[in-house]
Amino acid sequence: MGKPASSGRNDRSALKALNRRAEAILKARPAYREMLDFYLTVFRCQIEWRDRLVVHPEELGAEQVRESLRKGTPLIQRYDPGVKPQSLLDLWTEMKEVFRRGNEVLREAVEKIDHAEKTGDFAPASWLLEQRPERWELVADASRKIGIDESVLATLSRAVTFPHWELVAESWLLQDHLEEWRRFCCPVCGGVPGLVEYCKGQTGQEGITAAPRRFMHCSFCASRWAVPALKCPACGSTKDGDAKYLFTSDEPELRIDFCKSCHRYIKVIDGDRISGRVYVGLELLTAAHLDVIAQGKNLSPLEVCA
Ligand SMILES: [Zn+2]
Ligand SMILES: [Zn+2]
Repeated sequence: MGKPASSGRNDRSALKALNRRAEAILKARPAYREMLDFYLTVFRCQIEWRDRLVVHPEELGAEQVRESLRKGTPLIQRYDPGVKPQSLLDLWTEMKEVFRRGNEVLREAVEKIDHAEKTGDFAPASWLLEQRPERWELVADASRKIGIDESVLATLSRAVTFPHWELVAESWLLQDHLEEWRRFCCPVCGGVPGLVEYCKGQTGQEGITAAPRRFMHCSFCASRWAVPALKCPACGSTKDGDAKYLFTSDEPELRIDFCKSCHRYIKVIDGDRISGRVYVGLELLTAAHLDVIAQGKNLSPLEVCA
């Protein structure tokens, strides 16, 4: 038992990598500056709090993990993530102040949540503890009860749950476990991936490049896993000509992958152009314009995995 080690040194390099990546993005996509200035405060807070968060994931042996993944069962369906309600509440208390300073909409949302808590209509800690990628009804019900927008409440709740689940995923998952996992949903939490990353494959032979490898990123728990390169994550099609993409020459590191058969799409980044770890929240936030482009072509986001 125990939470995964996270040293101050790691956090400092994570902060540096985040800032470096944010700068590169702003150079290419300056329209995101105002939004990013605020959300960087949220992401930094998530990184700086890693040492203070309390999670005691059920201790799993490598064989237990592999066996579960071999059967296609996300780990959360079998094992206890051990996320502590008090830890969620502590980070929520900290995040509230960040959001209050964000903008009028966020400030008002925080005030309504505080009010609902005072009148006994809403208990943030137990509500946050119940959050799972597939339990969207929890957000929908609470947003109706409190009287705030669903997407605003989802943003607030993910800001608090994400770093907790990131520690759970780090504790449970090692790269060598993932060879057993061939599915498109997340091996830890079962969530639908939010982002695809392509990286150059390695053949180990100089001068010979392999086909690029495709990785999925989970925006709920930060897991990253490899998937087959040409299969559609939504309908599973491997038909010739179904895998299509949209891109512009202005943004060589971004594109949209979609399927001609089911018309689902997912946002894609070129991992070879990003140094250091991918911070999925940052990438999704600053690729939001891709959703407008895709939806303008009558494509729908990935909602269920093949
Ligand atoms: Zn996940
Ligand atoms: Zn498809």
